[in-house]
Amino acid sequence: MIPLIDLTIDVKTKKTIKREIIKVVESKSYILGKRVEIFEKKFAKFIGTKYAIGVGSGTDALRLCLRALEIGNGDKVLTVALTSPFTAIAIVEEGATPVFCDVDEKTWTIDIAEIENKIDKKTKAIIPVHLFGNPCNIEVIIKLAKEHKLFVIEDACQAHGARYKNKMIGSFGDCAAFSFYPTKNLGAMGDGGILVTSNKKIAEMAKILRHGGQTKRFWHKYRGINSRLDEIQAAILYVKLNHIASENQKRQKLAKRYKKIFKNLPIIFQGAITYSASANHLFTIRIKERELLQRYLMAKNIASDIYYPYPVHLQKAFRKYYTGKLPITEKIVDELLAIPISPNLSFKKQNLITNSIINFYKNK
Ligand SMILES: *Cc1c(COP(=O)(O)O)cnc(C)c1O
Repeated sequence: MIPLIDLTIDVKTKKTIKREIIKVVESKSYILGKRVEIFEKKFAKFIGTKYAIGVGSGTDALRLCLRALEIGNGDKVLTVALTSPFTAIAIVEEGATPVFCDVDEKTWTIDIAEIENKIDKKTKAIIPVHLFGNPCNIEVIIKLAKEHKLFVIEDACQAHGARYKNKMIGSFGDCAAFSFYPTKNLGAMGDGGILVTSNKKIAEMAKILRHGGQTKRFWHKYRGINSRLDEIQAAILYVKLNHIASENQKRQKLAKRYKKIFKNLPIIFQGAITYSASANHLFTIRIKERELLQRYLMAKNIASDIYYPYPVHLQKAFRKYYTGKLPITEKIVDELLAIPISPNLSFKKQNLITNSIINFYKNK
């Protein structure tokens, strides 16, 4: 079986990670120790922000962005429905109201006109999602946000290493959230996430809020949450961060090859905005005959999956926030299919995938 996302680690890296884990075990320092701090510095440098605050998950990083900005009850936050439901969960958990915007048909990310239409007096922030690692039209979003005095919180949970105009995604908004869920481009061996920002006030607040809102030992000045990256995950992530640049390059090569080989097939690719470079977290194609192709690939031992089968605004848990149809989102969710992409997918194995898909269309 060719898996959709292959989490195999090379022998040398695995050895290094095991050694680092043992060091943590021996150190007897498991929460908020020096490894978290060192990793935070390294990640902030990687993204190009002044600060990074390690937390329990990408969802918590989003929550802490909102809470540090004092966004909650009675506030509206614009985002998309074509995303991981956890984007919306973060908003709802903070007591704010998610307002779902439709996506742009080319990039599958938040539609600018929709933002303009849906801003009202209660709107406090925009959470654009860099879906599948593909940068949103971030410059335009920030300009709009400035005009309307809104905050921009980037959901960069799928976009480690994605760039716009040679700057890292996650360094554009007031703050950004990354996830270290194991399958992400930078994955922990458990849950983890990080909030990045160059705003000192946001960074200081996030650091206090992740640790229960404590400003000094046992003194809770703020109502915080309990969400800290742990030392073992930080040690693992520190090692893995050394490889992300080359891994993303490989992802890019695989994505380019897919596009080249499928050029003449009835397949639509996710469009990129100018001057952007995707992190290629997932390689998702848009096709009419999704079910048939998925079954065909399965028979050839090739995994594929649907991201996302249910747009957030149509899910039962979010019924309360439904404000109307999102035509583009609803149209394309029925046609999206992710096919394998991983740094350790060989071109030879990729050829098995591409040949299968070519044959599928030939035999139709
Ligand atoms: C993974 C993901 C999240 C949530 O991250 P967790 O670490 O699983 O909490 C949020 N938004 C998007 C777009 C994601 O892909």
